[in-house]
Amino acid sequence: ATILAIETSCDETAAAVVCDRQVLSSIVASQIDLHRRYGGVVPELASREHLLTIGDTVKEAVSKSDLAWSDIDAVATTCAPGLVGALLVGMSVGKTLSMVHQKPFLGAHHLEGHIYAAYLEHPELKPPFLCLLVSGGHTSLIRVDDCGQYKVLGKTRDDAAGEAYDKVARLMDLGYPGGPTVDRLAQQGNPKAFRLPEGNISLPEGGYHPYDASFSGLKTAVLRLIERLKADGIDPLPVVDIAASFQYAVVRALTKRALRCAQDQDLPAIVLGGGVAANSSLRQVLTTTAADQGMQVYVPSLKFCTDNAAMVACAASEHFDRGHRSSLDLEVYSRLPLEQVAVLYQTSH
Ligand code: ATP
Ligand code: MG
Ligand code: FE
Repeated sequence: ATILAIETSCDETAAAVVCDRQVLSSIVASQIDLHRRYGGVVPELASREHLLTIGDTVKEAVSKSDLAWSDIDAVATTCAPGLVGALLVGMSVGKTLSMVHQKPFLGAHHLEGHIYAAYLEHPELKPPFLCLLVSGGHTSLIRVDDCGQYKVLGKTRDDAAGEAYDKVARLMDLGYPGGPTVDRLAQQGNPKAFRLPEGNISLPEGGYHPYDASFSGLKTAVLRLIERLKADGIDPLPVVDIAASFQYAVVRALTKRALRCAQDQDLPAIVLGGGVAANSSLRQVLTTTAADQGMQVYVPSLKFCTDNAAMVACAASEHFDRGHRSSLDLEVYSRLPLEQVAVLYQTSH
């Protein structure tokens, strides 16, 4: 199906036109420069900026697709999870376009979009597979059996991987968002310079949880390391070695759990998704380690890892083809477990 999708869940204003798994246009207006001076996303500013940008973004997505409105089957909009004020902007525009152009309306789940990003460049990809979803707000291992059929098998108990990157970057005054900067510096450092914890969760009966992880302990370990180095009078800090050691711990923690989970579940493939899927080391280590074990890994290109509307359109297209539609009374949800995605497609609310 041909879908126009809108995404405004956080700090990217995005619109895209996708036909099944083929991207016809994908426009992303990032607000990073606006939020940088505050060191993080300011929700009120995000909503205002979405309002200013959404009109041109949608117009450009339609015009770059070279399609007419008569070629578009439906309008989809991210309505969960995310910042409520930000989601409402995209939702209002999506519903309005659906009414004006008399097209069916579909709500969309942002994380389902991150899962489907890999489909855009691997149209042959088919469930079942394990998705390692690593983003600014989420870190999960998800068993995908079909469109809409998800089981979260593992997750972070505290910070998301992207959040850990951003917080560690802040500890070293590297600016916002921290992920890309830490990634770049880490490539110049020694990953074995400092030993950092991999976020194991102890179980009451002994041993560790096989799939869950904690990243807040890792962040605290980096803080203690920096304090110790400073107390020892080490100046300047060995920033590249700290970044490399931190990245080594994160990547090992994620790769180890994902491979173990896919094996336990007898799944033939791992799909990577979310902003942290843009990480150079995670992409490389996961791909090579999995290949050693005969497992296939699907990785989206960088522009589809971080937030965009093409991934949202791709997921919505699958739902559309299954006959799913949303009510124009649909609300936005700041949180909505992936397992409950079906509530978006109940036609009365
Ligand atoms: P969610 O998808 O959970 O709602 P979000 O949409 O805000 O959260 P994304 O846009 O998917 O998050 O991802 C942004 C996160 O990805 C940020 O935390 C950022 O630091 C991180 N990130 C981006 N590029 C890289 C990279 N190369 N290495 C590590 N982290 C990265
Ligand atoms: Mg973002
Ligand atoms: Fe996201």
